[in-house]
Amino acid sequence: MAKNRKWNNDGLQQIQPLQEKQHRAERRMVVLPTTGISMIILLLLALFPQQVFGDASFNTNRGGVKTGRTAAALEVSSLSDLEMISLWGPSTTDRFNPYTGSLLAPLLIPRVSGTANNTRVQEFILDYFAKLNTTSLTGGTEEAEAEAEAEAEAEAAAATTTTTNSKLKSKKLKHQNRDQLFRRALGTPGIGWHVELDRFTDKTPFGEKTFTNLIFTKNPKAENRLVFAAHFDSKYFPPPLDQKPKNQWNGGDDTLPFIAATDSAVPCAILLDLAASLDRALDHPSRNDKDTTLQLIFFDGEEAFQDWTATDSLYGSRHLAELWAMRSVPRSRTATGRNGGSTSNNLEGIELFVLLDLLGAEGPNVPSFFGATHWVHQHTMLIEQRLWEAKLHGGQALARRKAGIQEREDDDEADDMERLDEDEPPLKGFLTAAPAWGGVDDDHRPFLQRGVPVFHVIPLPFPHVWHKLEDNADAISPEVAEGWANIFRAFAVDYLQLLKPRGQHRRDEL
Ligand SMILES: [Zn+2]
Repeated sequence: MAKNRKWNNDGLQQIQPLQEKQHRAERRMVVLPTTGISMIILLLLALFPQQVFGDASFNTNRGGVKTGRTAAALEVSSLSDLEMISLWGPSTTDRFNPYTGSLLAPLLIPRVSGTANNTRVQEFILDYFAKLNTTSLTGGTEEAEAEAEAEAEAEAAAATTTTTNSKLKSKKLKHQNRDQLFRRALGTPGIGWHVELDRFTDKTPFGEKTFTNLIFTKNPKAENRLVFAAHFDSKYFPPPLDQKPKNQWNGGDDTLPFIAATDSAVPCAILLDLAASLDRALDHPSRNDKDTTLQLIFFDGEEAFQDWTATDSLYGSRHLAELWAMRSVPRSRTATGRNGGSTSNNLEGIELFVLLDLLGAEGPNVPSFFGATHWVHQHTMLIEQRLWEAKLHGGQALARRKAGIQEREDDDEADDMERLDEDEPPLKGFLTAAPAWGGVDDDHRPFLQRGVPVFHVIPLPFPHVWHKLEDNADAISPEVAEGWANIFRAFAVDYLQLLKPRGQHRRDEL
């Protein structure tokens, strides 16, 4: 019973000492030489009333903010579905270990836009998808890898905005364990991930710099997309004046060692997790070009180099939204998304734009920002509740670790879990029903302004380590990161209807 009490109090008493510790740590924190505000909370309501209050009834068919799904059309995955989905793809908590995790650790370096480290992170992400593609398309033969590598090098010399088709350089593949990230029978046919590199230069307070957005699309022929996005660059913090005079700051490699774990390495790792875990289901032969597909966007240049202004911030998302607004794409009469049935620009196929930011720390509190997508927020809360019932909620694993309960399935633990479930609601949901109409300025804005429906997943308040050197590996809870990954995995499965009309996928198929 004592053990049980410890469990039940976790949300209150176990978290409290940590917060105190963090507050103490905060007073010792290095105050970074940031000037002005960076992430301004804007009242977009005044500017975009339609997007904000476009649809308070959660029916999305109104104005320019229709989405292809409605609340009524979405079913929440059952418990058994969630158990199955949780086994898809990379399924160990360790993948979000900030020191050793295959998805997260490679991202945790300073990666300011325009620097060599930023390019290293791009290569890690590209290699990750190349690995998915190489395995799914060719079975991972060395010949195919060599071919892909040669093609990639030829393409690397190409124009500033480059689109390649499903193959990228895979230099490091031979040295990696192909079974490390996901399980799939070699030779399994798949359609692969289409890769688009949006590379461009823009003026910054430190001169012209190169930025690269990375876009991965499962089936580029699909007319409608569910988009998940996050930014992979980290903010530039110049060295103190006594170390380097201001006129020598270069806006890049001389940055302080800020690795931006929540901002947004963890969200990027969650996108990688989504790609691997849904890869097989998205390749299912029963899916066709009419089905809404999954698109993952890794933005460069979200951060301001100095002050957050209209021109010093959101370099990548501003460029991509503008690029896609100008790109004309044919749409058939059966297109189900916004403005279906005509030629349209490449933004109009986005049914829903899900932006992840500042995730991975304990105790997130994510409100609902937009009336037009409030139903999405509500649906995600249902998924979170259902994950709790399935004992797959990240908060449960975190509480178990903090309470010193072993992961092994012994009788005592099972009893604890049962008692907990009978007595207690979730310790603290990641999402809250409370609205925060208006929103936080972020990479979604250039899309929102062009009528794209947005589901912004960002906690308020921000993590207390936000834009401090302490936003490092120690700020991350692997369990919370995994919890988020499970939530979005289930959300994508529901939204893309990867289970319901298609029959069952078993783990041994993956
Ligand atoms: Zn930031």
